[in-house]
Amino acid sequence: MPGEPQDDCLFCKIAAGQIPATIVRETQTTVAFRDINPQAPTHVLVIPKAHYANAAELATAAPELAADVLRETQAVADEDKLDSYRIVFNTGAGVGQTVFHAHAHVLGGRGLTWPPG
Ligand code: 5GP
Ligand code: ZN
Repeated sequence: MPGEPQDDCLFCKIAAGQIPATIVRETQTTVAFRDINPQAPTHVLVIPKAHYANAAELATAAPELAADVLRETQAVADEDKLDSYRIVFNTGAGVGQTVFHAHAHVLGGRGLTWPPG
């Protein structure tokens, strides 16, 4: 069921505090934590605590929660004092999605090329 915790999901376990992470911010509905393999000086993942497989599923099933995630990306940027930053939602294994629990990558703190690779 969309929104229900999944036993085999890494980010459900981080959201539940069962796997440690460097938490940057937490709200009633979201958690933001530093990526274990950072690609930029700031590389934070913002997740909804509820399980949705990707950004589109989240936005369709729970639009207010999707807005919570987006709002938190700005709060993370403020926390790290970033004037500019990039938000990435990888969607599908073909572009590198490896964890199928919706998450926004917040990247910044260095120049980022455009278009991305
Ligand atoms: P995706 O490739 O699915 O868009 O992003 C998944 C991200 O999760 C990757 O950037 C990866 O480095 C990160 N990641 C994977 N396992 C862990 C973990 O156990 N802890 C943290 N903090 N990040 C993780
Ligand atoms: Zn999950």
